[in-house]
Amino acid sequence: MTAFWTEADFDDHELVEVVRDAKSGLTAIIALHSTHLGPGAGGTRFWHYAEPADAMRDALRLSRGMSYKNAMAGLPMGGGKAVILAKKDTAKTPEMLAAFADAVERLNGQYVTAEDVGISEADMAAVAQRTQYVSGLPVEGEDAAGGDPGPFTALGIFLGIKAAVRYKLGKDSIEGVHVALQGTGSVGGGVARLLARDGARLTLSDIDAGRAEALAAELGAETAAADAIMSVSCDVFSPNALGAILDDEGIARLDCQIVAGGANNQIKRPEHGPMLAERGILYAPDYVINAGGIISVTLEYLCRRDKAPCDINEVRKRIALIPGRLEQIWQESDRSGVSPDQVADRMAQELIGR
Ligand code: NAD
Repeated sequence: MTAFWTEADFDDHELVEVVRDAKSGLTAIIALHSTHLGPGAGGTRFWHYAEPADAMRDALRLSRGMSYKNAMAGLPMGGGKAVILAKKDTAKTPEMLAAFADAVERLNGQYVTAEDVGISEADMAAVAQRTQYVSGLPVEGEDAAGGDPGPFTALGIFLGIKAAVRYKLGKDSIEGVHVALQGTGSVGGGVARLLARDGARLTLSDIDAGRAEALAAELGAETAAADAIMSVSCDVFSPNALGAILDDEGIARLDCQIVAGGANNQIKRPEHGPMLAERGILYAPDYVINAGGIISVTLEYLCRRDKAPCDINEVRKRIALIPGRLEQIWQESDRSGVSPDQVADRMAQELIGR
């Protein structure tokens, strides 16, 4: 494995720890990018990587992403991420999770973990048995912050789409605005329902065609094939499934004025942000528009840590700030000629003192 400090993705991370526990077979990496604003927060991924260097790259890149996301969400949290290196054909065991939890606890609150790809709610509940530094745990009661982040993420995206429509199309209402939506899962499904309630015209798509069709029937929407959704002629393309869809080919196919959706890491390479801008397409930076979930799980964590009451209205209040943040980015982009993704990165870097 290449030394991590020579990795292209190494960005003055404050701490990178390789955790080995021979007894359970655990190998994990915990990366803290920045604790300038607070403890490094970000989920744990359980994934089989072809090479250990791929795991290191993921931990470095994703922890930096969390610094930016938490900063732009106005949260008192830094950026961190953990990856557990799964061996091919070896299952996750309670002993591995226990050893991982002990490693998180040893960091004494510098890193706060949560669920991510390959880690279930039950896994995190097991981790939380051995360390208090866990966010996004299930909560009881409808008025509490926390729990499933999907609906909160969807709310932020819905508000962000409305802001983009106002900014780019000069319309105060979403009624009749045509949104082509990729991915109708937890986030995409929630966004579609909120848009439909306000009278938007929807074209829905999912690789699980049955899922998109069922939702379309419920909402009176149209559907498109998964490989056709990016070329649908529409006002807004809303990606809520995969990352890296905004590449040379994807951008060339778009027939819309706005890209605004919740999928993480939509822009494939740095040149693709400016490429969208050159085509006159307004882009809502993904980690700014999709912060509703992280806002909810973080407030739940902070309230639990501080033994303070925390109600859902505080979460909604903070999610309602997402449109303003996006407008600030778009205005700065228009003023400076720098694409919105790069404006967002610069703002985030400034917030974390870089
Ligand atoms: P999900 O698994 O509930 O839904 C994803 C949906 O996308 C599924 O229905 C799946 O069939 C579909 N899909 C996968 N590949 C597709 C393709 N090529 N074309 C069309 N549809 C496809 O996941 P989710 O929680 O809704 O997350 C969606 C995206 O939002 C992911 O990129 C995730 O990282 C991001 N995100 C989620 C949250 C959250 O709170 N859940 C927060 C921030 C970002």
